[in-house]
Amino acid sequence: MKRAIEIEKFSDEEKFETSLRPSRWDEYIGQEKIKKNLKVFIKASKKRDEPLDHILFFGPPGLGKTTLAHIIAQEMDVNIKVTAAPMIEKSGDLAAILTNLEEKDILFIDEIHRLSPAIEEVLYPAMEDFRLDIIIGSGPAAQTIKIDLPRFTLIGATTRAGMLSNPLRDRFGMHFRMQFYTPNELAKIIINAAIKLNKNIEEDAALEIAKRSRATPRVALRLLKRVRDFAEVEDEEVITLKRAKIALDELGIDERGFDELDIKLLELLASAKGRPLGLNSIAAALSEDEGTIESTIEPYLLANGYIERTARGRVATPKTYELLKLKPTDTLF
Ligand code: ADP
Repeated sequence: MKRAIEIEKFSDEEKFETSLRPSRWDEYIGQEKIKKNLKVFIKASKKRDEPLDHILFFGPPGLGKTTLAHIIAQEMDVNIKVTAAPMIEKSGDLAAILTNLEEKDILFIDEIHRLSPAIEEVLYPAMEDFRLDIIIGSGPAAQTIKIDLPRFTLIGATTRAGMLSNPLRDRFGMHFRMQFYTPNELAKIIINAAIKLNKNIEEDAALEIAKRSRATPRVALRLLKRVRDFAEVEDEEVITLKRAKIALDELGIDERGFDELDIKLLELLASAKGRPLGLNSIAAALSEDEGTIESTIEPYLLANGYIERTARGRVATPKTYELLKLKPTDTLF
């Protein structure tokens, strides 16, 4: 196994996640279509002894994009360098990363939609021709120096597909859209994580946590951690369905996985009584960042039919009115 070079500094929550991160295909639950395709492409590139084509993963946070990049590196038996677009401020930062790669290495750039246009310009020849064009000087005396790079694979991940520039998107040979997970898939992930944490959990308790996890592994693992705390305070060896339910209720997470912010967002849309609301008005009303609403909160509500996106903005659906026990003509404020 090759070494993994992590550029990021990790918080405690991230360290917890990293310790539970699957490193093999059989531990990576769900996303069957993506796994099937990737396995074929990995096999083919290994057979040709070539680096893997550049890969782009789209999807809300916590669905397993970073984990997939690590598994790909492991399967290709190459190094992986992990970074995020906001950490690459100057073209020199990117040049330093690229020139330190070895042949076939993987560079993983998270939140790739946040690269500045100037950095994207440096990335284009690097992705296409494995070449770095460095401009020295300015004005008529400016010179371009070309540096050959090792043939590497770029894996980009983005939570906001619409914000990626077309030229950048087109330079990825493979595009994969991550799917939300079923409760059964998440229950498997929770049980596997509990085994790694050396904590017993009843199957129906795992399923209960799974159902309230917004179809997202990262949320499932966080909830498992919290529920484990509740069980340990009660000196319980095994996480039971009863304790899971009590803990999740205490945490304010309902049977659909909605928390306070989801409900606030749905109430806001319902109060507009069919009038579409733009992302900026929603963000202002909820005092939340537009990006968080679009990439983290909204996708799960959209996927479950509680929000509809129209050309003029977001509207509540009959399901929302039913959930809030309102008629479309009622007003909340
Ligand atoms: P993303 O990069 O999409 O934000 P991550 O790859 O960081 O998501 O996933 C968050 C955590 O959830 C990981 O640390 C991993 O432990 C877990 N996870 C994600 N996808 C899966 C999966 N398919 N099977 C098992 N665990 C997963």
